[in-house]
Amino acid sequence: MQGGAALVPGGPVVWVAAVVGLVFGSFLNTFIDRWPRGESLLHPPSRCERCGRRLRPWELVPVLSWFVLRGWCRGCGAAIGWQAPLVEAATGLLFAAVALRAAGWADLLLGWGLMALLVVATGVDLKVRLIPDVANGLGAAWGLAVGFASQGEGFWHHVASGAAAGLLFGIIHLASRGGLGLGDVKLAAVLGLYLGPRATPVALFAAALVGGGVAAALLATGKRSRGDELPYGPFLALGGLVGWFGGGELAAAYLRWSGWPG
Ligand SMILES: [Zn+2]
Repeated sequence: MQGGAALVPGGPVVWVAAVVGLVFGSFLNTFIDRWPRGESLLHPPSRCERCGRRLRPWELVPVLSWFVLRGWCRGCGAAIGWQAPLVEAATGLLFAAVALRAAGWADLLLGWGLMALLVVATGVDLKVRLIPDVANGLGAAWGLAVGFASQGEGFWHHVASGAAAGLLFGIIHLASRGGLGLGDVKLAAVLGLYLGPRATPVALFAAALVGGGVAAALLATGKRSRGDELPYGPFLALGGLVGWFGGGELAAAYLRWSGWPG
């Protein structure tokens, strides 16, 4: 079975996907907040960071609550910060975008899994320069399970793409003496698993292009010196988005342009 039943683009599925994404984004935001501090996801319940006041259910509605509270805690007046509404809105938009172009249910589930991983990798890497093993591990397990159940022969091409991407980044990790972290190596492998042989090179190339461009711009403007490490996770995540939403088309366009037969 390839892909399963076709979804109706622009139908109610897209709106349901946005709501699922908003709610899931709230969960991802909790993870991004708590994982670097080694805290549990379930305990304690959501509270104000400053006064410790427990948040009421109506204060936990994704995005909306933040605007109702206008970014301030009702107990102590502390600023809540814009990370939560940003992560929630981004996840909602990405989940809806996946649903808009999904070829079937398996494609939808794979796309959501990849988006969740990219949001977490970006958030945690920007905060503490690490990509959690648990995020890469769950992403890989989800990609393997859904892919094995739905992709048929093509599944092994996806596994090979993941291995190739991991190997390439492993070599860069060794050559850069750890300048590129192991978390990035694992994320590159998981990207390859989700994107397959056509879109993976597009994703890694886009990540290198944008990452290199930003690093060069920061060096040129003196905002960073050569020794400073730049978190690479957000660039891999950006490459992953390019690969997922346009990788097949971009690869085909490139092959046509270079005169590749077929
Ligand atoms: Zn407070």
